[in-house]
Amino acid sequence: MKVMKFGGTSVGSAESILSVKKIVEASEEPVVVVVSALGGITDQLLNTSRQALAGEPRYIDAYNAMVSRHHQLIDAIIPDADKQVALLKTVDSLLDDLKSIYQGVFLIRDLSEKTANAIVSYGERLSACIVAAMMHGASFHNALDFIKTEKKNDVNTLVTTLTYDLVRKEFKHFRSIGNDRQSPRPIAVVPGFISTDNETGEITNLGRGGSDYTASIIAAALDATILEIWTDVDGFMTADPKVIKTAYTINELSYVEAMELCNFGAKVIYPPTIYPVCVKNIPIKVKNTFNPEHPGTLIKAKIENDDKPIKGISSIKGTSLITVTGLSMVGVIGVNRRIFTTLANKGISVFMVSQASSENSTSIGVRDEDAEAAREVLNAEFAKEIETGAMFPMQVESGLATIAIVGENMKQTPGIAGKLFGTLGRSGISVIACAQGASETNISFVVDGKFLRKSLNVLHDSFFLSEYKVLNIFICGIGTVGGMLLEQIRTQQQFLMQSRRLKLNVVGISDVDNFVLDRDGIDLDNYEKILRAGYPANTEHMRDEIVKMNIFNSVFVDCTASRQIAMLYQTFLEHNISVVAANKIAASSDYDSYLKLKQTARDKGVWFRYETNVGAGLPIIGTINDLCNSGDKILKIEAILSGTLNFIFNEIAADVPFSETVKRAKEQRYSEPDPRIDLSGTDVIRKLVILTREAGYKVEQDDVEKHLFVPNDYFEGSLDDFWKRLPELDADFEARRKVLEAENKRWRFVATMEADEQNPASFKTSVALKEVPYGHPFYGLEGSNNIVLLTTERYKEYPMLIQGYGAGAAVTAAGVFANIMSIANI
Ligand code: ADP
Ligand code: ASP
Ligand code: MG
Repeated sequence: MKVMKFGGTSVGSAESILSVKKIVEASEEPVVVVVSALGGITDQLLNTSRQALAGEPRYIDAYNAMVSRHHQLIDAIIPDADKQVALLKTVDSLLDDLKSIYQGVFLIRDLSEKTANAIVSYGERLSACIVAAMMHGASFHNALDFIKTEKKNDVNTLVTTLTYDLVRKEFKHFRSIGNDRQSPRPIAVVPGFISTDNETGEITNLGRGGSDYTASIIAAALDATILEIWTDVDGFMTADPKVIKTAYTINELSYVEAMELCNFGAKVIYPPTIYPVCVKNIPIKVKNTFNPEHPGTLIKAKIENDDKPIKGISSIKGTSLITVTGLSMVGVIGVNRRIFTTLANKGISVFMVSQASSENSTSIGVRDEDAEAAREVLNAEFAKEIETGAMFPMQVESGLATIAIVGENMKQTPGIAGKLFGTLGRSGISVIACAQGASETNISFVVDGKFLRKSLNVLHDSFFLSEYKVLNIFICGIGTVGGMLLEQIRTQQQFLMQSRRLKLNVVGISDVDNFVLDRDGIDLDNYEKILRAGYPANTEHMRDEIVKMNIFNSVFVDCTASRQIAMLYQTFLEHNISVVAANKIAASSDYDSYLKLKQTARDKGVWFRYETNVGAGLPIIGTINDLCNSGDKILKIEAILSGTLNFIFNEIAADVPFSETVKRAKEQRYSEPDPRIDLSGTDVIRKLVILTREAGYKVEQDDVEKHLFVPNDYFEGSLDDFWKRLPELDADFEARRKVLEAENKRWRFVATMEADEQNPASFKTSVALKEVPYGHPFYGLEGSNNIVLLTTERYKEYPMLIQGYGAGAAVTAAGVFANIMSIANI
């Protein structure tokens, strides 16, 4: 025979109860069916009793709502009129009793534990009657008659031997039927959760979620072949699927692993459930009532072919840490005994203990609701020591969360703790206390409650529990580069997920008008519409919201040219958000800020990347970094770094005047949004400054010597004025161009950094329009291409040359994309 337990959601609606019926009736063995109250009813029963206690007459409405819910359900699942009448007789009599108890509470304004337990028992009593009535050939068995408890340390505890005997008696007939296929397969229905006190006969219960335990007790007492827990998820999962979207079903778990996970909040099984069946070596299967075809999870003694060190992560919210400290504790025997005895006598359960090896402080994890009582009893216990100053009064820190990573294979795998704490550190999460049992199947630690979600996500991700790794991306600026980047991400998303197991999750998008954030990911097919419905653009608001999201593995991508946005990097890096910038302002601004950004990224274990700041997608910054890191020294940089200017000087011709080339550069989107940034040399100066810094020299923009080709006063007025005045320069350019053509030379706007070989710390930087002769490597540089010549100690006689498209949305976006991928570390 087997025991099947159906939880609240499984019996919560007509539709789900009909699936339950199907599942149970398909069993080839006799079945004991244990049921919870209809989903949500337990909470409603308790809330309604609180209303009655407070003298709120509307408790009656809440009661009536529960009556209708049960009536409607019966109506929907028991069409047979006679059967309905018979069932309603029992159900209504229970509901009437419940009403009388509520009336009593309302009138007397008293709600003893005894009365509250009686009230809450009605949920399971009602649901079990209904389920028994609708199953073919099922009998109802009243758990109040055979599940027995006694009060121990203020807690109702199972009286095991007696209960097992009573269960065996209750199901005597049932057991003797066996599994013979010929005989009818009987179905017994039992209300879960509820019990009675062995001495007083009063109604008690096994604790919230206790129906699982009822089922386990019955399975153990009757030596069932299997205990099946039917719930609303596809089995025991790597983490709570309501919190971790990428959690997935674990095929098999050992009893020890399941127990550890449940003890730390994996609500899918009530913790005491594992022990009775584990002792009898009865396997547990966790299955989904709403997806019965899914194989679910099998829990048993030993798992074969098990290679994962970590099986799952679970957590408990609302925990407090009580720290017992005092100098006299060092080496004193018995302090721990006193702490635990005191707490146990008060019925306070401790789920984590951490003691420093100096023994002068012990931290104890308890639930928030037990914290005050724990403080009081411990202060009383150690009153003498506190008075003499040998110990300090108890310190309580509340609003914390405790997380456990669990897996039996941890024992054989070194480095798990290192990886755990390294991952948390990189995400800016500090660990308040931690503990690892000597069995090495669990490492648990305490963090500030506001970091719970992030901790779970980041650990789930880094231990490859997830089927894929997630990178959460904020994209700021939807101009040519940002728009193209979004498009590239959209088309690559599927491929990266399948072949690299990487999920690029765009969690934020902003443009000049709006910004939108969504931790579940923005649908890139519709992002424009979604963005329009977002918040109005506001840099500070956006910064605060992003920081508040506190999302793991995240990167802020700046595709704007805005100084205001560049000012946000420092905050983001400080909050462990990596930054990828197409925007050059930060890397070329004052040297100290640039250095601080790099240092912050290093300290926080995140990235600040800006490869596209120079040469769009060309590997220039990375190459200089590689050369320097390997001990080379950059002696000279000569480069054409402006795609726009190179384009202009390649386009200029007898029939294409200078002003027209500038217009074309703008139209073809090579230039900055304001082309004066290019023509004034500012863009090239910024790039040269960045390269010089990457080469290890300290330089500011003002240090760069400038030899420009557009008079300064053209940059002073408005952009409109500039466009109007620009043709004034055409004649002069044409005259000079003719001479140049005759000499077989070309204009190139060249950026140069040259170190003084005698004194390597001293160097010069300049930008200038140069006339390069035929045969020079810069002469034939086509279109908007860029070129960089690097002379180094190792590349001296023949400098290193990097050349290619230096501007354009597609290559720049691809360069940004490459930076993002390098952060994903795939
Ligand atoms: P039931 O009413 O069937 O007893 P519960 O609500 O008590 O169901 O437990 C099922 C819920 O447990 C799931 O809906 C899920 O949100 C939560 N849960 C927490 N941790 C896990 C986990 N590791 N695997 C599966 N579910 C989990
Ligand atoms: N109905 C009870 C509760 O909600 C017991 C159970 O569902 O297991 O806690
Ligand atoms: Mg449950």
